[in-house]
Amino acid sequence: MLNILVIGNGQCGNRILDAINKEAFGGKSKFAKFYSQQKYKSNVETIAINTAMNDLKEMRFTKAKDRVHIPHLHGVGANRNVGKNVFEENKANIMRQIEERGNFDIGFVLTSASGGTGSSFTPPLIEELKKSYDFPIYAVVVLPFREEGTLYLQNAAFCLKDIRDSGVDGIILADNQFLKQIGGDVQSAYNSINDMIAKRILFLIDALDSEMMMVTDLGDFKTVMSGGAGLATIGFYEADKGTPIKSAIQKALSPSGLLFSTDVYKEGSRAMIIIKGDKSYLSIDEISTEVEKLSSSVGHVFKGIIVRKGETPQVLAVLTLEVAEELENLYSVAVDAIHQEREKKTRITEQKGVDRAFSQIDGLEPDY
Ligand code: GDP
Repeated sequence: MLNILVIGNGQCGNRILDAINKEAFGGKSKFAKFYSQQKYKSNVETIAINTAMNDLKEMRFTKAKDRVHIPHLHGVGANRNVGKNVFEENKANIMRQIEERGNFDIGFVLTSASGGTGSSFTPPLIEELKKSYDFPIYAVVVLPFREEGTLYLQNAAFCLKDIRDSGVDGIILADNQFLKQIGGDVQSAYNSINDMIAKRILFLIDALDSEMMMVTDLGDFKTVMSGGAGLATIGFYEADKGTPIKSAIQKALSPSGLLFSTDVYKEGSRAMIIIKGDKSYLSIDEISTEVEKLSSSVGHVFKGIIVRKGETPQVLAVLTLEVAEELENLYSVAVDAIHQEREKKTRITEQKGVDRAFSQIDGLEPDY
């Protein structure tokens, strides 16, 4: 049995964590969770961390003891410098809360890259965890909608770089901009995206802790994640009875299955494909053909098969990327955003627009 730590930082991280707990407890109501067992065999400890009390209160499936409030009046307002200081001041408390949960085999830290709390807490938190523990830690990072504004874009660019420099064992990318194809209003898009991420993480946890017909394990996952440029994404597809397994694998690797925009055959570096379902759906020939197709363009592909009686087939693909064109696009938009912010600041200090307006009445008194 694996001991797994999942930490959700900031609003986005908290919500994905809550989606994981919802799914792990079988989507049961707030009260049912006290009586129900997690569906999964691993020991999964979840911790939500936030400076905003309201975000923590909003969680519906995460126990109160798993919600850690870091007091800072009204959050950190998307300012990563403020956020980093707040983390530093509260580091001992946060690390103690984690230490109390025991030791782990693997850890995930969930966050958005662009907000304040999650984006500034995640890099130093991972750095601290890596100093104190030996287990591998993976960041699951949500990228912003590109129209969310200059501050979010520049935060995303610096946060990702900081996470990469933190000693993290790999970064799994999910991109709101790419996933907004799901449609609906923002709130329902968030919920669907969070559910997508939760499902993939839980499938992965389940797979790493399962008896497989063809085995992949935590060691293989570590090898996959250490490949490429340290960046990865996850694909998933849940097939119905009539879908041939080869189409299910192709769909998991296609844009509709992935969390981040990439052509896996061009940008992939290493992969792990895990297929779960009733034996009758799992044609070994079809699976081998698809896996060989992928490995001929990306390099190494680990393959795992979990036989689950009566279940329709599900496919999970973990892919590390050698290059990521979409990330380069994001950085070029972010650089424009950083310049825009800087120019605005210079304009304000040079012209002192509002001060100049006020200065016109210097020395004058109102005349009635
Ligand atoms: P923080 O609480 O200060 O860490 O800030 P947030 O986590 O709210 O960060 C803002 C970014 O996260 C924006 O790019 C939002 O689009 C994104 N975001 C906020 N909530 C969610 C959510 O529930 N799901 C997803 N996928 N993205 C979210």
